[in-house]
Amino acid sequence: MNIHTGRKPFACPSPNCGKSFNAKSNMLRHFKLHFKLSSGVFLLPNGEVTHTKPSSKDLHLYLERYSPI
Ligand SMILES: [Zn+2]
Repeated sequence: MNIHTGRKPFACPSPNCGKSFNAKSNMLRHFKLHFKLSSGVFLLPNGEVTHTKPSSKDLHLYLERYSPI
């Protein structure tokens, strides 16, 4: 018997995405990819382009930026 529910309560906040995940950490890991412009180049929440991976603080700002008002 398959008892796997497949429930994924953590939806990606990006408006054009629609993916959802079973753990918030997985969602955040995926969400970062929306700000990866190319290999090793990232767009920060303030619009800056950086060669450093977004920090957890940046991730928080990404989420604020995409949260419904
Ligand atoms: Zn997404």
